[in-house]
Amino acid sequence: MTSEQQQTPLISIVIPAYNEAEGIVEVIERVNFILKKKFQTYEIIIVDDGSCDGTSEKVEEAIKAEPKIKLIRLTRNFGKEAALNAGLCYSTGDTVVTMDSDLQHPPELIPQMYYLWEKKGVKVVNAVKKIRQQENFFKRIAVNFFYFMMKMLTETDLTNQTDFKLLDRAVVEKYIELPENQKFFRGLIPWFGFPVENVYFAPKQRSSGSSGWSLIKLSRMGIMAICSFSSVPMQAVTLLGMITFAASIVMGAQALFMKLTGHAVEGFTTVILLLLFVGSVIMISLGIIGQYIAMIYHETKKRPGYIVDKK
Ligand code: UDP
Ligand code: MG
Repeated sequence: MTSEQQQTPLISIVIPAYNEAEGIVEVIERVNFILKKKFQTYEIIIVDDGSCDGTSEKVEEAIKAEPKIKLIRLTRNFGKEAALNAGLCYSTGDTVVTMDSDLQHPPELIPQMYYLWEKKGVKVVNAVKKIRQQENFFKRIAVNFFYFMMKMLTETDLTNQTDFKLLDRAVVEKYIELPENQKFFRGLIPWFGFPVENVYFAPKQRSSGSSGWSLIKLSRMGIMAICSFSSVPMQAVTLLGMITFAASIVMGAQALFMKLTGHAVEGFTTVILLLLFVGSVIMISLGIIGQYIAMIYHETKKRPGYIVDKK
């Protein structure tokens, strides 16, 4: 390595991939093309998150032609958050870019993001969607509901934020050091409070394959994200209990008054409605508490968030 190369900051690109065999080569080629033109020292880390469609084999082929590409294969599908975390742990760059492997995040933005880091000293560069990509009706509703809840409960506005980010080494180190194993990347990076700059892009349709996020997976991640940032839902259970208690006193007094004045309520409608209402409030409340207990349970086990099969 020449002294000039040693002085050039190293940039790492971390790309989680789950069943992306169809399009992964094109992604690598496009990212590599951009980086080769601009940077002397770089690494492209593909984290295969337990794909079963031969994604790793495609990456291994690409490594033969370009040794700057690296592959980390997880033993099974641990989810995108864990894959990102694994990639960040293994990255060595002075700055690290995280992006998706379906070309919805245009690699052409990387030089602009790098410029903000190098020349302006910005520690975090967010690539923000100008518009949302086309997605099905239910997913759109679920995503908007998630953004709304996140904003209401945690005062963090994540609307149109993505996992396409450039991070300074200091931010990456802080992220890796976080002891929790259920990490929500998009929420934790703004939580650190480092200086941030935004760049904007219009997401394209997926280059190939289909989204690895089922509605269930998406909901699970949304609940995890909200619960790891806010204890308001759990505290709201108490408030809900107090409101229903107040309502039951009013209704109870009314029923008693009717009884004493000889106008006892006929039929069971009120009883049934009340039972249903109280029953459902109790169940929702227990569910919310259960969610937090589940998170505590997972954290106390101190299991690693992912297992690497091959590097
Ligand atoms: N991904 C992953 N593990 C998963 C699901 C997704 O590593 O369990 C990766 C996927 O390969 C892609 C990125 O996360 O690079 C974003 O996933 P996707 O495109 O399916 O999400 P969407 O763009 O629909 O939000
Ligand atoms: Mg995508």
